[in-house]
Amino acid sequence: MNQGEKAPADAIVVGGGIVGLACAFELQSRGLATVLVDPDRVRRGASWGNAGHLAVEQVEPLASFATLASVPRRLFWRGGAVALPPRDIGTWLPFAWRLFGASGAHRFTAGKTALKSLVDLALPAWRRLSANAGAAPAIVEDGHYVVWETPGGARAGRDFWRNADTGTASTRDATRAEIGAIAALIGREPAGVLRFVGTGRVRDPGALNDRIAAAFSAAGGREQLAQVRRLRVSKGRASVDLEDGDRLDADVVVIAAGVGSGGLMHSLGVRTPIIAERGYHLQAPAAAWPDMPPIVFEERSMIVSRFESGLRAASFVEFGREAGPPDARKWRRLQSHAADLRLPFDTAPREWMGARPTLPDYLPALGRSSRADNLICAFGHQHLGMTLAAASAEIVAATAFGIVPPLDLRPFSPDRF
Ligand SMILES: Cc1cc2nc3c(=O)[nH]c(=O)nc-3n(C[C@H](O)[C@H](O)[C@H](O)COP(=O)(O)OP(=O)(O)OC[C@H]3O[C@@H](n4cnc5c(N)ncnc54)[C@H](O)[C@@H]3O)c2cc1C
Repeated sequence: MNQGEKAPADAIVVGGGIVGLACAFELQSRGLATVLVDPDRVRRGASWGNAGHLAVEQVEPLASFATLASVPRRLFWRGGAVALPPRDIGTWLPFAWRLFGASGAHRFTAGKTALKSLVDLALPAWRRLSANAGAAPAIVEDGHYVVWETPGGARAGRDFWRNADTGTASTRDATRAEIGAIAALIGREPAGVLRFVGTGRVRDPGALNDRIAAAFSAAGGREQLAQVRRLRVSKGRASVDLEDGDRLDADVVVIAAGVGSGGLMHSLGVRTPIIAERGYHLQAPAAAWPDMPPIVFEERSMIVSRFESGLRAASFVEFGREAGPPDARKWRRLQSHAADLRLPFDTAPREWMGARPTLPDYLPALGRSSRADNLICAFGHQHLGMTLAAASAEIVAATAFGIVPPLDLRPFSPDRF
């Protein structure tokens, strides 16, 4: 804040997923009277249905020629996890074009420097936020496993991870005991197991959302059940128009509405090419599955997470619009992976589908918008929203108070498109 500038007194946060919740809690804890606006009382979006992996090893943006080159062999109809539904071609084709533009060597390197600087903040920020919210046990820093089922997959996978930048995380070969424990769960010896050290998990995404929401209320924050129709700027100050015709105004307005953020920014004339990367999960009671780190079955592009609420298998990236019916073939594919791996999913597991909010360079939009002095963005967290929510909230709060954040925010500019 510049000298003589008035400190902000109140805030509106649009969107009650994990990013919005973390921002609202952080702002309320720092003394701003904060209103969290979301139409859904029972929120079941990506922040609820994700795999709960604190993926601090993922410092390389997915906007890269290596990712693009891998798409043909990873297509759904070839047994892979990537889907480009023909009905949504008008959405994913322009996105693909921008993704291609963001994937060149120069932009990839710049993107990696930026993403790494953000991901490095993730676990320390989660430690602080979870402690402040009385939810410290909800975060566990015990790494994760990557498993291969074929010798070829294990060779290629090990080579990949040996050469990849994994930030503050490291890898080691799994011990005999660790391999034995996984073999006992899936009924056969895997071809290779790598243990990641320095990554983390949440014990249960839904429970974590609920705990942060409760801490926000206990700190005096207010939730308003409402859909934001559009943003408005007058005299350099943003306000929020609700579907019911009401208008909300505050010293700080934070847009953290996941995929919905695109339309809201569009209402201000800001080009925000966000796409829904829809993922699917199945969840069943955990039965005898022990409390342990997530397992990534890399050849299946599937992650299996043991939560307090049950055992969850998640997969797929389906590019398109957030709305639209789910593709039931994806649950059947998950079911068949589960059967191959003897996961306890035979008694009617719960089916879920939800959307990752993704921008073409695979960096979130984070920081102040040039459209209004009081408008701050925190959306587009793609595959890393659970990982980056607490760090994003600290950055949003620093920005609100005019404190210089501990990283260069220019690569995350909400106006960069
Ligand atoms: C299958 C799957 C697995 C994943 N696994 C992981 C993982 O292991 N680790 C990880 O870090 N990330 C993971 N992710 C990604 C992560 O879940 C997302 O990045 C994250 O949940 C995005 O959070 P968000 O708060 O930005 O958006 P959301 O959770 O989508 O929340 C947005 C909220 O905004 C509200 N909203 C939208 N429009 C409006 C409006 N106009 N007015 C008011 N409110 C509005 C919505 O109702 C919603 O509640 C996974 C995602 C999927 C789909």
